Amino acid sequence: MDAHDRTRNRAAVEGNSPVAPQDEDALLARASSYASTVDIAVDLDAVSWEISDRAKRRAGVCLYDGDGSVTIRLTWDAYQSYGWTEFTDVIRHELVHAWEFQQYGESDHGERFRRKADEVGASRHCRTFAEPRVRLRCTDDDCGWTADRHRASTVVTDPADRRCGTCGARYLVEHVETGERWETKNEYENARERIGDEW
Ligand SMILES: [Zn+2]
Ligand SMILES: [Zn+2]
Repeated sequence: MDAHDRTRNRAAVEGNSPVAPQDEDALLARASSYASTVDIAVDLDAVSWEISDRAKRRAGVCLYDGDGSVTIRLTWDAYQSYGWTEFTDVIRHELVHAWEFQQYGESDHGERFRRKADEVGASRHCRTFAEPRVRLRCTDDDCGWTADRHRASTVVTDPADRRCGTCGARYLVEHVETGERWETKNEYENARERIGDEW
């Protein structure tokens, strides 16, 4: 093994390989190989890895089937928003859940969880990454002001009489999930109907 290989191997072990996974298959492969470098007594042969491209709030979830088999489901959008290095924390956190499930048949975020999470340097709480429901955008291209909103307040449902927080121009509201846009209460109501369950 030459010095270059050693460097590359160490980078892979630390999860800091310069090329971050670019697609879901690459993320799955990297996550499961990263998991084997985390110092925790999880039976990885009994762990399946999945990607969710629909989850909107939780960065990851660990599911247990009751007989030792665990599924860790990682959220693609969370990975996109955190980047690989920060995302390894999500993997460590879910591995602590996997460890508790395999050792004790149950898992929560109690004292036992917190101790193990500290040991492997994982966050103690399930990470959420809330993708905003809507984004306000200034209509003046030179301005570039945006603001994220989660709730359907009047700022969102009735934007006509309100103005950009920076330049005072009108703004439009964009529904992040579907790309629907509106600038008035009327348009909002029509868009809301088209969006339906995807709101
Ligand atoms: Zn958790
Ligand atoms: Zn503006």
